[in-house]
Amino acid sequence: MNIKPIAAFADNYIWMISTEGKAAVVDPGDAAPVIAELEARKLVLDTIIITHHHFDHTGGIETLKRETGCRVIGPDNPKIKGIDETMSEGKLVSVLGYRFSVLEVPGHTLDHIAYYCSDSEVLFCGDTLFVGGCGRVFEGTFSMMQSSLEKLGRLPAATEVYCTHEYTLANLNFALKVEPTNEDLKNHFEACTESRAENKPTVPSTIGRERAINPFLRWDSPIIIEQLKVTDRYEGNSAAAVFGAVRAWKDQG
Ligand code: ZN
Ligand code: FE
Repeated sequence: MNIKPIAAFADNYIWMISTEGKAAVVDPGDAAPVIAELEARKLVLDTIIITHHHFDHTGGIETLKRETGCRVIGPDNPKIKGIDETMSEGKLVSVLGYRFSVLEVPGHTLDHIAYYCSDSEVLFCGDTLFVGGCGRVFEGTFSMMQSSLEKLGRLPAATEVYCTHEYTLANLNFALKVEPTNEDLKNHFEACTESRAENKPTVPSTIGRERAINPFLRWDSPIIIEQLKVTDRYEGNSAAAVFGAVRAWKDQG
């Protein structure tokens, strides 16, 4: 699958899939950079894929639909104007000939969904899973978000993870506080620091790497469990509670 990032706002990525003169974009918060990219690459916009209702993911829908007549797929949420086909758990949807299945991943928002293509091992997960982090839990509960992340974590290790924000260095800085002796994490922090110094995206990651370094997928890590205990945050090994304690720690800044 040909996937390229379009930078938007301060730290958003709008992912563009393209094939034979056609394109699809994921979470176009802004129409202008998408239109510029379509013109530069002589592509026709076929589909807009939406993960959740936040404005930095949906703000470009109206203009892009008006300018291109593309179809829009997304969550079943009337707050999002312009959705043509609503998606729910297990639904299969074809985009530019690629078959995606829909995963409901509530927590960051209640309407949040992700799109997984098993043939190409590609995941578009919006603001649910980030490189070394996860979205803030705005609308759901910690246990809901933990279940959603667990669902994504069960995908094959080789799955490429396309999230919507470049939050990686801040996330990995925090992750090192939570799991200071994780060698994979230290190595990935170094690699990402280099990428950012060269202004390269740190996205995509993979599910396998996230399972190894992301504290929000590592509720069973003895180091994290111990770190929560010695910092008086939580004592125990319940997955939802470990996740919640790490998320609350991050929220405190
Ligand atoms: Zn969001
Ligand atoms: Fe966002």
